[in-house]
This record gives sequence, C-alpha cells and structure tokens, in this order.
Amino acid sequence: MDRSPAGLRLNVETDPGIVFCPACGVQAVADGRQQRLLHDIGVFGVPVLLVWSRRTWRCRQHSCPQVSWGEETQLAPPRKHFTTRAITWAVNQLLTRDVVISALARDLQVGWRTLWKAIEGPLQERLKEISDQASVEALGLDEHVWRHCGPHKNRMITGVVDHTRPKRGKDGKTKPFARLLDVQVGRSGAVAEDWLASQGKEFASKIRIAAIDPYRGYANAISATLKEADMVVDIFHVTKLASQALDEVRRRVQQDTLGRRGHAKDPLYRARRLLLTGANHLTEKMATKLDALLQEGDPNWEVTITWTVYQKLIDAYQQPDSHDMVTLIDALKDLGVPPAWSEARGGADS
Ligand SMILES: [Zn+2]
Repeated sequence: MDRSPAGLRLNVETDPGIVFCPACGVQAVADGRQQRLLHDIGVFGVPVLLVWSRRTWRCRQHSCPQVSWGEETQLAPPRKHFTTRAITWAVNQLLTRDVVISALARDLQVGWRTLWKAIEGPLQERLKEISDQASVEALGLDEHVWRHCGPHKNRMITGVVDHTRPKRGKDGKTKPFARLLDVQVGRSGAVAEDWLASQGKEFASKIRIAAIDPYRGYANAISATLKEADMVVDIFHVTKLASQALDEVRRRVQQDTLGRRGHAKDPLYRARRLLLTGANHLTEKMATKLDALLQEGDPNWEVTITWTVYQKLIDAYQQPDSHDMVTLIDALKDLGVPPAWSEARGGADS
C-alpha cells in the first residue's frame, strides 16, 4: 500500500487456485500477470486506486482454440477501469442524491467522460427497473416482525411486494414471483392506505390484484384505495390455510372411522405428508401409494374430495393469467369448500 497526497494505491490479487481451460477443460498453466488499474470508492477522504495483478492463463493443449486468457472476478466488470462497487456507488448517488457526474468523477479522480462510459449501461438498467416498477399489476401487503436487539419491543412492519407475473416461460407457465418494493413501519390499514395514496393515482389504477395477509386492516385499506382490484389472500397464507383445512378433515375422518386419533400404522395417518404434496410433484409410485391409502382409510371420499379442492386451489395460484386465478377461486368457493377456506377471498364477500 502506498499513501501519497494523490490518494491510496493498494496492490490486490486473487487467491491462487487450480484453473481449467474454458474451451477444452484441461488444467491451465499460469502465464504471468498483467497490472490493471481500478478506481475504487475513496476512504478516509482520499481516493483509492487498486493495482490489480491480474492472472493470465494459457492452455497446454496445442490444438485448443483458447490460447490464453485473463482471469475474471466480481471485483471489476470486464474492460472497465472501475471496481464493481465504485460503479454501484456512482449509480446510487446519481439516483438518490442531487449530484452531478462531474462531482462524482472528481471524488474518484477521473474525467467525467471516463466515469460516464463506465456507468451509462448500469444506470440505464436501473432506470428500466424503476419504470417497470411503475406498472405493478399485482401488489402484495405482508406483515413482518422487526426484531430489535436491546430494550425496544418488537415492531410490526408492512412489506409491500410486487407480485406482477413475468411473461410465460418456455413451458408456458409462470412461477410465483415476489419483489420487495418498500417497507413501512407499523401494521395497520392506515400504514397501507398512506403508502398507496403516496404512490399516486396512475400507480393505483394499474393494480388488478391485491394479495394480502388475512388481516382486516389491509383488506379495509385495499377496499378504500383500490376499488377496481380483486383481493386475494397471498399464496403463502392460502397454502397454510388450505393445508390446515385438509389436515383437519383427515383427522376428523380418522376419528369417525377408527373411533380414536390416528396411529403410525393407520392409512390416513400414513398419507398425511403425501396428501399435502402438490399433485404435480407426486411420482407414479407416490400417487399409487396415496390412492391405496385413501381407498383404505377414506370410505366416504371426504378426504379425497378435500384433497382435490386443495390441489385445485394450489394450482389456481400457479395460473399464468390472474383473471383465470380469480375465476377458479370463485368457482371453488361456489362448490362449497370447507369454511376455513372462505378466507381465500378477502374483502367484502368474505
Ligand atoms: Zn484448451
């Protein structure tokens, strides 16, 4: 490390290790170092320059197209004169503070053009993320407990989550998706309502689905602010409620048919884990076993019917189209699902 009025110069290198040729997979031979200069975030009020002794490697196979190459690390993006964290820092400064690029460039002791070339791409990416966030179609409200170490009591917080589904994958399906948008202290309808109000009318008008904890305060906030949105209990709580209901039916049928609680050898007791497994995750062997156990332990089909509804409900939450999902949940409700599940639709009609 050299310290001068111009700043700190730090010599850095990666840990040595065995490296293989990216083209043919043969163990590579070390082929010296090349020094690369990387501008980093300043410390103690002075700029920092990293002198990276970048390892270069050579392939020992004469016929291999990959003759030699330099190492890549997370420390710095390829072909940039800055560390990854310096780029992230500069982008964050531009997005969150009222600073100009030339001021940031001065802090890093580079020309503004040099800095701009390095951050233009990452900055555009971040701006795109932010604009995507503006078209949230499915919004989630979720309570968390914030645990304090020390004399303070635990505090409740409300997490605001973007559940907007990405485009369908190659298999035509989409997976449940959650991206944290914001966190607010407190767990009340007022907290949720204030947050929604602060996002503006345009944001609110795009929300089609509101997924919430089964909590009345959130339901009231959604009813008051997002009149057009369908309200559903989010998948984690639905799964929990639905599996509880299925478990209750199983235990009741056990009691009815055996006159006692389930024991380790009873068919329904043995089926308890298989019942809660998603149907698309059951192997043929598991499905055959479940079928046999139900035939034996569920003479009146009560568990079997509940299981079918449970599976349909879980499946409904995997529907790529949110409208299909709401229709399916409504249809299930009309079928007369067990009372505990009516919470699957929140809001005025719950
Ligand atoms: Zn090779």
